[in-house]
Amino acid sequence: MSAIVFRGANILGENRADILVEGEEIRQVGADLSVDAGTGVSEVDAQGLIALPGLVDLHTHLREPGGCDAETVDTGTAAAAKGGYTAVFAMANTTPTQDCPQVVEQVLDLGRQAGRVDVHPVGAVTKDLAGKELSDLKGMHQSRAAVNVFSDDG
Ligand SMILES: [Zn+2]
Repeated sequence: MSAIVFRGANILGENRADILVEGEEIRQVGADLSVDAGTGVSEVDAQGLIALPGLVDLHTHLREPGGCDAETVDTGTAAAAKGGYTAVFAMANTTPTQDCPQVVEQVLDLGRQAGRVDVHPVGAVTKDLAGKELSDLKGMHQSRAAVNVFSDDG
């Protein structure tokens, strides 16, 4: 398995440390990590770089279902992952609207199928975002998507 040690990264913008990564896992974080040079560990000079945990986008428009000509869960989460995001909250203005358990579970499943970042569907506060009748807020919360953020954005 390939391993990389990032030397002198600025952890959370505060402390400098080395980060040893093997495959897709962080194995060790600490000052002046010693690695066996004969094991094929690559070294990267990370001085001047900031190491952060995954970012969370609280306002994402993945457009799926319904708007796949503009964006899909697959393409949107690919862009998110490239930008350092590990979780996105998918706004409700899809077609159909994310205003019931079936649609939020569909978006959840599309995110899991894409497999890049955690996708948290945002439920619409009102049916069809029309501002007239409340959506099934409890049903969306109790669904597999466990929706806990609601918005009529869009
Ligand atoms: Zn928006």
